[in-house]
Amino acid sequence: MIKLAQLPYKRDALEPHISQRTIDFHYGQHHAGYVKNLNNLIEGSKYETMSLEEIIKNSEGSIFNNAAQVWNHTFYWHCMTPDIDTKPQSMLLDAINRDFGSFDNFKQLFIKQAATLFGSGWLWLVEDKNGKLSLMQTSNAETPITHEDLKPLLTCDVWEHAYYLDQQNQRLAYLNEFWQLINWRFVERNM
Ligand code: MN
Repeated sequence: MIKLAQLPYKRDALEPHISQRTIDFHYGQHHAGYVKNLNNLIEGSKYETMSLEEIIKNSEGSIFNNAAQVWNHTFYWHCMTPDIDTKPQSMLLDAINRDFGSFDNFKQLFIKQAATLFGSGWLWLVEDKNGKLSLMQTSNAETPITHEDLKPLLTCDVWEHAYYLDQQNQRLAYLNEFWQLINWRFVERNM
């Protein structure tokens, strides 16, 4: 039985950047829905006793899709904080400067790649075995945790359900709100 992880803040805590209405649907319907679907799909199967990560690494099709979406969403909620406009520090900032030239350049690339990801998916900041940072677009439920050599540090959900209630089809407007909410302390802890 896979459980729906608790939100790390109240549902209205990200307002006015992300509304409670969006969180009610995104967490309360979409994320919860993936958990429910997954539990229905794995009941009585070999996946029933596996951890979420094990299911993701050993499945395909609808089990993979629902399991990866459960994991990706839990990670996504932690990537945001109501304490807005924090900045990356020390090790993380040094790595960003080294691998993206500057923090401003990193921000531009992040927003551009998130804005231009075609269809539904996720934009990730990942760290490889050698400590090098890069950006990675994934489609639908695809997740970097299936790559042994990649560690996810940060993600942005660019499925339309993440922003449609607040910004309709204006993904860029959502990305600018998301950017202010990034929990850089969480990103640093993932290194
Ligand atoms: Mn989502």
